[in-house]
Amino acid sequence: MKAEIMAVGTEVLMGDIVNTNAQYIARRLADLGIGVYYHSAVGDNSARLKDSLALGFSRVELIIATGGLGPTKDDLTKETAAAYFNRKLILHEESYLMLTQYFEKQGREVSENNKKQAYMPEGSVVLPNPNGTAPGCILKEGDKILVLLPGPPREMKPMFENYVVPYLEKYQDSILVSKVLRICGIGEGHMVEKIAHIIDNQSNPTVAPYAKEGEVTLRITAKAENMVEAKRLIEPMEREIRNILGEDIYAVGETTLEDVVGELLVNKKLTISTAESCTGGMLSGRLINYPGISASYLEGVVTYSNEAKMKYLGVKEETLDSFGAVSEETAREMAEGIAKAAGTDIGVSVTGIAGPGGGTEDKPVGLVYVGLYIRGKVEVKKLNLSGDRQKVRNRTVVTVLDWIRREISKL
Ligand code: ATP
Repeated sequence: MKAEIMAVGTEVLMGDIVNTNAQYIARRLADLGIGVYYHSAVGDNSARLKDSLALGFSRVELIIATGGLGPTKDDLTKETAAAYFNRKLILHEESYLMLTQYFEKQGREVSENNKKQAYMPEGSVVLPNPNGTAPGCILKEGDKILVLLPGPPREMKPMFENYVVPYLEKYQDSILVSKVLRICGIGEGHMVEKIAHIIDNQSNPTVAPYAKEGEVTLRITAKAENMVEAKRLIEPMEREIRNILGEDIYAVGETTLEDVVGELLVNKKLTISTAESCTGGMLSGRLINYPGISASYLEGVVTYSNEAKMKYLGVKEETLDSFGAVSEETAREMAEGIAKAAGTDIGVSVTGIAGPGGGTEDKPVGLVYVGLYIRGKVEVKKLNLSGDRQKVRNRTVVTVLDWIRREISKL
């Protein structure tokens, strides 16, 4: 089955919001083995929406449209779709009841405008919306299927997962199942070299690498009749990759590096503090992304100036004078200084030159020293990173998080 994803709404068209619905649905359709051939966007305009539906159905069998199901006049997706398929809109009692209950909970009455949302195209499969007021629906006419979903992602996603996925699965004779391995501490090129024989000989499952900000993901995708068969295909491939990449693989699926580090810290009952210069709080920000980190993360300081490094971390003036702020010695004293000041098991420091200015022949842009103090022992790593200011800072944070992960795994 060929599919098109259509965003309805002037906000998307004008660039006021990013079309994240399309990204989400495209990924999920790929998982289901449905080929997405087109993405389109159209404003809240009945005539142009009709044209878009006609164009869409001239080239695909499935259109999934999001947006324009709201209560106001310019929300006209449902009305236009019904007219396109020559269907009447009729009051859907169950939706009306749900709508009434939704409003009652908020101590309000259903307005005439909102009542419009309970009118659904005749003969459509109605998709309940427990997270909002607009139900979705599926219209089928011959071999053409039109799915209408609400615009807000928090309403669209559960509706898609709970109703659309099971509906579409009926039309698929095979499913695509993916497993994502998350990798850090090895560049994409190097990793691809290490598993070149696997990538070169892949058929089913396929193996696709994807690099992002110092991390790499490997997506193993199997095409199979059912989940059990898919897992049977993926398992040996995953084992082989794990044998080669070992602890470079830090997680599976939708996990982040900070989640892994946060969980390790909390499980091992370790406390941590951070002292950052060029990353300006990004490292602490990433750590604090992990819910529950309060059991481990105690303190963090941004010590940008030399004075701050001396005042808060006890970095010695001689160290700064002799070696400079961006040096192994300063990073060492910063890590030790924050751990002692905060009284934590672990102290992490970052000092570097993120650019674009400030680099010299000796100390070029991208030179970063990171320090890791763990229970009385300090180690410092020298990084030579490439890219613009933001990239250097992001890569530093990823490198440090990965370093912490590897070190505390051993404790
Ligand atoms: P509602 O019932 O809330 O009015 P709706 O189905 O009418 O929903 P729209 O009015 O088109 O949807 O959009 C409502 C909001 O949903 C937008 O302001 C935006 O925040 C979000 N939204 C809409 N379309 C998209 C999209 N394609 N990608 C991401 N977010 C979207």
